[in-house]
Amino acid sequence: MTQYVYRFGGGVDADGAPTDSTEARNLLGGKGANLAEMANIGLPVPPGFTISTEMCTRFMNEGGVYPDSLTEEVKQGVAHIEKITGKTFGDAADPLLVSVRSGARASMPGMMDTVLNLGLNDETVEGLAKTSGDERFAWDSYRRFIQMYSDVVLQLDHDSFEEALEIAKEDNGFFTDTEMESQHWKALVAEYKGLVEEQWGKPFPQDVNDQLWGAVSAVFGSWQAERAKVYRRLNDIPAEWGTAVNVQAMVFGNMGETSATGVAFTRNPSTGDSAYYGEWLINAQGEDVVAGIRTPQYLSKAAREEANAKPLSMEEAMSETYGELTNVFDLLERHYRDMQDIEFTVERGKLWMLQTRAGKRTAKAALKIAVDMANDGLITEEEAVARVDPMALDQLLHPTLDPDAKRDVLTTGLPASPGAACGIIVFDSDTAEHRTEMGDDVILVRVETSPEDIHGMHAAKGILTARGGMTSHAAVVARGMGRPCVSGAGGLSINNETKLLKIGDRELKEGDTLTIDGSNGQVMAGRVKTIQPELVGDFGVLMEWADKVRRLGVRTNAETPQDCKVARDFGAEGIGLCRTEHMFFETSRITAVRQMILAANEAGRREALAKLLPEQREDFRQIFEVMVGLPVTIRLLDPPLHEFLPHHQSEFEEVAAAADVGVETLKQRANELHEFNPMLGHRGCRLGVTYPEIYEMQARAIFEAACEIAESSGEAPIPEVMIPLVATARELELMKDAVDRMAEEVFAEKGRRIEYLVGTMIELPRASLMAGKIAEHGEFFSFGTNDLTQTTLGVSRDDAGRFLTQYVDKGIFPRDPFVSLDVEGVGQLIELAAERGRATRGDIKLGICGEHGGDPASIAFCEETGLDYVSASPYRVPIARLAAAQAALAKRG
Ligand code: ADP
Ligand code: MG
Ligand code: MG
Repeated sequence: MTQYVYRFGGGVDADGAPTDSTEARNLLGGKGANLAEMANIGLPVPPGFTISTEMCTRFMNEGGVYPDSLTEEVKQGVAHIEKITGKTFGDAADPLLVSVRSGARASMPGMMDTVLNLGLNDETVEGLAKTSGDERFAWDSYRRFIQMYSDVVLQLDHDSFEEALEIAKEDNGFFTDTEMESQHWKALVAEYKGLVEEQWGKPFPQDVNDQLWGAVSAVFGSWQAERAKVYRRLNDIPAEWGTAVNVQAMVFGNMGETSATGVAFTRNPSTGDSAYYGEWLINAQGEDVVAGIRTPQYLSKAAREEANAKPLSMEEAMSETYGELTNVFDLLERHYRDMQDIEFTVERGKLWMLQTRAGKRTAKAALKIAVDMANDGLITEEEAVARVDPMALDQLLHPTLDPDAKRDVLTTGLPASPGAACGIIVFDSDTAEHRTEMGDDVILVRVETSPEDIHGMHAAKGILTARGGMTSHAAVVARGMGRPCVSGAGGLSINNETKLLKIGDRELKEGDTLTIDGSNGQVMAGRVKTIQPELVGDFGVLMEWADKVRRLGVRTNAETPQDCKVARDFGAEGIGLCRTEHMFFETSRITAVRQMILAANEAGRREALAKLLPEQREDFRQIFEVMVGLPVTIRLLDPPLHEFLPHHQSEFEEVAAAADVGVETLKQRANELHEFNPMLGHRGCRLGVTYPEIYEMQARAIFEAACEIAESSGEAPIPEVMIPLVATARELELMKDAVDRMAEEVFAEKGRRIEYLVGTMIELPRASLMAGKIAEHGEFFSFGTNDLTQTTLGVSRDDAGRFLTQYVDKGIFPRDPFVSLDVEGVGQLIELAAERGRATRGDIKLGICGEHGGDPASIAFCEETGLDYVSASPYRVPIARLAAAQAALAKRG
């Protein structure tokens, strides 16, 4: 019989759970596994038990039915808690109360539901009042329980309960919950029970076992909640993982002034600084700290002083317990060898640990923590390299606010998630998503965000909230997503109805532009100037460590000298793809290009090409200058010619004048160039085959420029001339001959030779299949995985948007195959081509230059396949360096 329940606390050790930490986590969920582990290393953890993730999967598959054995297992789990606490579940005199908590394999903060204080009913509340000697506390707990249970389990209207509480406070002339006395809570409980009966049609469940099973099912059910699904999609978490349920003895932070609850990070999750960082509240429970109802207090004295806050820090108010807590921080960091995110509660002076997990952090913090921990010897350099998520680096590679730029600061909130963002303001998540799809940069402005807002937060460039602290929902989620966020900006007054934002005497409406700086909390009017980041400090150090372990080369896709420079500064080791078509579009030459295309014969084309030669040579000269000493792969003209055609009368007239022919003749010629399916039409090497003079001109420009640079700098670049869209060996043979002939001509004219290669893009399935023959004529292959994906799947990338999301949702593709390589299908063609190419030419150079060259999962595939290099867009070069290092480490195992 499968064991589904695993106990923790009271020295039960693993209770049969796997000892391997990954397996334990898969079975018990992150929260359950860590609760058990903390209990095992002797930390004060309230006892409890975990119902495994396997049960969740089974529960979903079998339509919400439990196996009979589970009843008995849960009974024993409860007995285990009763034995250790000395209290009995449902006992009117001395009741045991529990929390029922969700906990998936991957942490999904705030995504699923928790019920606290379960086990209270009309009788046990009296018992709790007596044993605690605190009637107010007992009734406060009961009303919290009814409220949470009604929300999470019974799914009643949450707002009506909030409203009842607000009215109760108003009627009594109170402003805060803390002013409510025992009799007020008692009255509210009666009202809550009325609301339950009214909305649910049945009285609030008094049987504690009914309560327990209701909560367990609700937690399992919350795995299928809409917001959990969205979160999973955004974070690539498979639906079949399921969540575990943790049932745990309650401890109470709301038992008066010597009790408290808090959350903490062992290091600063924003900056990575090695300083305890957290928030706490006296006489509070559970989510009070993050809910934004009361303003939480600082944990350490230093942080309080820095923020210039009045309410005492925990260090000052409960110095002894604080000392215990920081000892636990150190112990946990050493144990898990990572920065931890911790929940704790103090019940009448006694410290209890309720959760620990690897803390979510910004890219900046991730870098600093990894480098610091490696420097301190807690982890190795290689572990540091393995720990930083390459995609997160994206945050650091984008422009930050220019410190010298003028800032019109409207107000300052908390620096909740670093980075600068600028965009138009919107007031709800649907609009944020919509406007982003329309191509706008948006700043999402909310009083406070909730889990329903993740799609909007994801779409937004930045998030601004009026309420909430550094550990509020907005702050935590924004840091996880790498979105700049300013939270708790008190000076904001937001009207969601009129879509107006007031800051002081300034008024902004939806669509107005705002800049936020998540690193210092500033909120600024208009757009503030930005500057380029540099790879210095921790970033530079980690990149060096990454370079030590990676095998794959990293090049860039770039075609302007500026882009080449950015990429080289980011560590690119060459150019993997320099497209030549954009050069044709420049205003100074488009007329000559059109003249060439519309020419009636070869002589006409040659005349136009002669005008283009010096321009093209200058393009290459500038690029070679930046990339001196490095390989530069230049792709000869690829797109269908009609893309360059004139549209307007005036454009036709210009070309007519330049070519000295009539406008009507040109128009007719343009019509003849029409194609039904241009992407499969007259493009790529087919242009070179039919109009050899085009490729000849380009080859000449390349070699002349290379010779010039060799002459002036003493060091030559290494041109790699790439023929696009080859399907047969003969095509490449013809094109290579033409290029070689041109090289010889130029070398003879210039009186010097330079090293160069001729190769092809592999972007058609036939080319992969025929790679053995093609390699007879090509010295390198570069996998053009954008086209290879299109041609293999028979899907046009430009039209895929309409259906691809559904394909991913329905599990047809694990991810968008244009973002992350379809390893299973397209990957086979790459493997095959690599193998056949190498069989013909042992030293053939293999690289990838599609969009996938900057995607970590695709890079891992390139490492597996033994390619020589990947090529990514300039800003992705550092990401590719790190991903290549991680792939090498993973392959080593
Ligand atoms: P989440 O995953 O959303 O953080 P949790 O299950 O961790 O949800 O619980 C929500 C809140 O309730 C947390 O602040 C947690 O510390 C608190 N909590 C959970 N279980 C207990 C317990 N047994 N005693 C006291 N507080 C608890
Ligand atoms: Mg938690
Ligand atoms: Mg292509």
